[in-house]
Amino acid sequence: MIWNLGSINADNFYYLRHLPAPGETIAAHDFRQGLGGKGANMSVAAARAGTRVMHIGAVGPDGKWTVDRLLEYGVETQHISMIDTATGHANICVAEDGENSIVLFSGANHQITTQMIGAALAEASPGDFLLMQNETLGQRFAAQTAHTLGLRVAYAAAPFDAEIVAQVLPDIDLLVLNEVEAEALEKTTGARIDALPIDDIIVTLGAEGCKWVSNKAKTVQSFPAYPVKAIDTTGAGDTFTGYLIAALDRKLSMPDAIALAMQAGALMVTRQGTADVIPDLKDIQDHGFD
Ligand code: ADP
Repeated sequence: MIWNLGSINADNFYYLRHLPAPGETIAAHDFRQGLGGKGANMSVAAARAGTRVMHIGAVGPDGKWTVDRLLEYGVETQHISMIDTATGHANICVAEDGENSIVLFSGANHQITTQMIGAALAEASPGDFLLMQNETLGQRFAAQTAHTLGLRVAYAAAPFDAEIVAQVLPDIDLLVLNEVEAEALEKTTGARIDALPIDDIIVTLGAEGCKWVSNKAKTVQSFPAYPVKAIDTTGAGDTFTGYLIAALDRKLSMPDAIALAMQAGALMVTRQGTADVIPDLKDIQDHGFD
């Protein structure tokens, strides 16, 4: 089972002729609201990859629909607290030429307390996974608690924050990050990825696939991506990570888990949207990757 301490956002898309200039008011000609946030995306991906996932998070009264949607997608939601503040959201202006501008507000995601996290993890069992990203609070407490309880701790270092990475580093077993984040981490720690005290590190490389650095076995293996025609790369990394941890939770070997996660990531970039369009196992099977 996966315990995912993660953000939940409402993604509000406003479609406009052009982006507003300072002081300008523009009427949007279309509006769409979807479920987003790295945490929610990973929970949905893990559920669609066929494993049990409990989301640990917080939303405001305006976010009840996000919890309902997670539930509908097979995510367990008993540890999503309803608190008296705005739900995290991203207001995304999309202009006709494809240019966008985004305002992010972390809202309830930054009101998650150690009590909430502790209450959830008290129900976890040794061998379960704790998964975290960087859009909430409490990562350090969660990592330490989970480690003490015998959970496996997986961390997606995005959006990259050097201070938080340094805090959780001693308690993580598996780190997932993209190339830019890997470079930032090496710069911060002054150490190469393969010298960090973490058993497994996966560096995703977009259309180039990924590499697996096993510091236990002292090996580095590269995995080429599955070729697809990409139309929207949003959420590829979140889909990859959710699938990877779910596959490991289902006891697949690391190479098999990576292959499945890359197939899910590849299908995801052929789709427009975030959590709502993350592929499930049947989509992957139907596509027939070789
Ligand atoms: P992030 O969104 O965090 O930057 P990546 O872009 O590295 O993450 O994507 C995560 C994974 O999704 C990659 O390792 C790869 O397997 C898959 N993927 C991403 N973009 C493509 C693409 N254009 N073609 C095929 N697979 C892709």
